[in-house]
Amino acid sequence: MTARILVVDDAEANVRLLEAKLSAEYYDVLTAPDGPSALVMAAEQAPDIILLDVMMPGMDGLEVCRRLKADAATRHIPVVLVTALDGRRDRLSGLEAGADDFLTKPIDDLALFARVRSLVRLKLVIDELRHREASGRRMGVIEGAAARMSGGGGLILIADDNDEQIRVIEQELSQDHRIVVERNVDQALPAARGRADLLVINAASRSHDALRLAAQIRSDEATRHLPIIAIVEASDRARMVKALELGVNDVLTRPVDPEELAARVRTLIRQKRYYDFLRNNLDQSLELAVTDPLTGLHNRRYMSGQLTALVRRATHGGEPVSALLVDIDHFKRINDSFGHAVGDEVLREFAIRLATNVRAIDLACRYGGEEFVVIMPDTALGEAEAIAERLRRHVAGSPFHVAGVDDPLSVTISVGVAATLDAADTAQDLLKRADDAVYDAKAKGRNLVIARAA
Ligand code: GH3
Ligand code: MG
Ligand code: MG
Repeated sequence: MTARILVVDDAEANVRLLEAKLSAEYYDVLTAPDGPSALVMAAEQAPDIILLDVMMPGMDGLEVCRRLKADAATRHIPVVLVTALDGRRDRLSGLEAGADDFLTKPIDDLALFARVRSLVRLKLVIDELRHREASGRRMGVIEGAAARMSGGGGLILIADDNDEQIRVIEQELSQDHRIVVERNVDQALPAARGRADLLVINAASRSHDALRLAAQIRSDEATRHLPIIAIVEASDRARMVKALELGVNDVLTRPVDPEELAARVRTLIRQKRYYDFLRNNLDQSLELAVTDPLTGLHNRRYMSGQLTALVRRATHGGEPVSALLVDIDHFKRINDSFGHAVGDEVLREFAIRLATNVRAIDLACRYGGEEFVVIMPDTALGEAEAIAERLRRHVAGSPFHVAGVDDPLSVTISVGVAATLDAADTAQDLLKRADDAVYDAKAKGRNLVIARAA
């Protein structure tokens, strides 16, 4: 997972050092010696991450950060502020300026790479989201959801038995999140399977095996995606490396710096929310492939697949399948008199009536325009005809109330009914018979149900 990283520092030596470290790990490194050139570079080169020195003459890092976050073109790029060891104030101002994370000078390699990896992952999901936003049909929805995706208000599970450490963590994180503490660290998996957004484990304690817990969490289906922050002793490099190898998202050294922890938590929760959103969104696009966007009914493509399978089963020894083809009468007049938007409302209202007046096992779908199909498994022609007749009466008997139109609209439908015949029958033939029946109904004056026996 490589990335392009912009390093901003006024000290040439610092730039070279970071450049060497990052290049050695195959990151693509850009550099800028001051704030103004960093802003230009960020806009033109679209880096994946910006490592930003706080103390620079002229425009300092905080100001650069503020400007990056104020510009829609660069807002999404994660910014890591590089602060002095005693830079507590810088960190607080950094958070206010919109920084995503911190690194402390002198920069520790492990911390650097852990941070960079974590932010590259975040950047990847953000990019994916932005990409969909740009090409997606529901741009507004995605944009709105992305804007709401903060890193606050999470449910955080702390697996730790060190009361003093728990107190510090809880005090800091409870400002923005809900906290659950599990002191029995070796038994924390069930708690993690709950609705936690993030897990903090104490991997520094010898009284339990927190890394075993991390491994369990990564291999458990329900917790696989749960972000984990491990707390380790600064001197225990081996454990730090092991934790990262096991798939812990980030490591923090003891004694825990509350602000640093808060920043890590925020980044990881935001990342998780982007991920969750993308996953849900993916499901939605699958759903879009089978549903009609105007009415929410199944679409023609989905119906065709189902009908083919059902007809095959019916004509090979199964129970008969019936189909209703429903066409709204003189629908064009509604559009012509009240406009297309009112026409759409009528289609929606009709879809609701259709879906609520057939049985749960029946498949209602929009066939196209103002034509609908209902597939009825295990249903003979006479039975289907009776259901169609009930639907026809229901539509004709109670006019449609549509927003923007004073008087209720009277709507009628013509319905063709057909059922499966012999082994040679196909889905296409079945729909053709139903369509012929609709044609007859129209010719006979509309607001009619006609069944085609053969
Ligand atoms: P008939 O009784 O013979 O069925 O007459 P009709 O006017 O209902 O039938 P026709 O097929 O002549 O016209 C259907 C109209 O439906 C034409 C088309 O513009 C309109 N239509 C198709 N899809 C939509 C849609 O999604 N929204 C709206 N508002 N109108 C649609
Ligand atoms: Mg029509
Ligand atoms: Mg029509």
